[in-house]
Amino acid sequence: MKFPTARTRDAFPIYGQLGIHSGPPAKVFRLPEIALEWPVTVPAGVGPVPGAGPRADPLSTEAQEGFRFLKDIGRLLEEATERVRDAVADGKVATYIPELAKADPALVGIAVHTIDGDTHHAGDATVPFTLQSISKVFALAALMRLTGPAAALDGMPCEPSGDSFHSIVRLEEESGHPRNPLINAGAILVSSRLPGANRREMAGVVEGLLASVLGASVGVDDQVYASESATGYRNRALANYMQHFGLLRNAERACEAYFTQCALSLDAVGLARAGLFLANGGSDPISGTRVIDTDSTCSILALMAMCGLYDQVGRFALSVGIPAKSAVSGGILAIVPGRMAIATYGPALGSKGNSVAGMAMLEFLSRELDLSLFR
Ligand code: GLN
Repeated sequence: MKFPTARTRDAFPIYGQLGIHSGPPAKVFRLPEIALEWPVTVPAGVGPVPGAGPRADPLSTEAQEGFRFLKDIGRLLEEATERVRDAVADGKVATYIPELAKADPALVGIAVHTIDGDTHHAGDATVPFTLQSISKVFALAALMRLTGPAAALDGMPCEPSGDSFHSIVRLEEESGHPRNPLINAGAILVSSRLPGANRREMAGVVEGLLASVLGASVGVDDQVYASESATGYRNRALANYMQHFGLLRNAERACEAYFTQCALSLDAVGLARAGLFLANGGSDPISGTRVIDTDSTCSILALMAMCGLYDQVGRFALSVGIPAKSAVSGGILAIVPGRMAIATYGPALGSKGNSVAGMAMLEFLSRELDLSLFR
């Protein structure tokens, strides 16, 4: 697995401090090297784009005007973490995956990475957490890269569900078809389509995409994986339901691959860096590597905007106004197209399963930096 280029490391001294680069912690296992190399062979028209790389002028003059970003961002991020420290008392850590219940609900962190290479973080942004539902975005990207966006989304109407992330009710009403790939049923269907003979190889496709951007392998938290696998009856119910309707062939393997990808572990700094290609039309602006094509990127961002925070996504659109994906581990990845990726961490969750601190910090930042796409 290649390390970041000298250029990347020089430009981002913080990068070397990430746990992800200093080898996995003891309880983390490495996914095996799998058959797929990145970049993999992809459909015509999806390959590297000539001249892809850092944009010479990533921000328009107009954007820069409303964007007192560079000089103020460090202070703003500090302020964001301080403002929400008390609010975390309103939330609770997830317990239905027993291992997640061990998280400290007081943790609050935020990291920002701009497409022109600026990076800042505040609070507990270097505490690793499992990606959980945020991994759905990267799994979808990995599948789209292999099959193109239409085939990856086959069988899913791509409408918001209005239900909780693990709801089964619409599967019965809609003949086993998940509403979208960011609720659990849809994400399990996506995972079932990843190539590989077993869970490690299938989740390894997702890890391969992350590693190709980060320049280092990403560990799976084996204890969180085992904890979800031992208790994931509800997800197995969703998968079996879909198998009954012929949408997938091996419900158990699909769930195991999904549980494994959900246990991929990064900190907020690494997550913002990993998601940066989504803010840059699908190519990583730091290395110049094309990760996915522009159509796939547009589809993923649209899905995040419509379905990324479950049945709280409407309120989030009003108050923050950017595509985002939340996770029960307390992470949120938010993308400001053409500008930056933001990752927040705060394991105390509200009643809809979204990080209380993360949502509040993103609302604050959106207001301060005028980030809403709807302005
Ligand atoms: N692995 C978790 C689950 O399937 C992910 C859910 C989430 O982060 N919202 O329940």
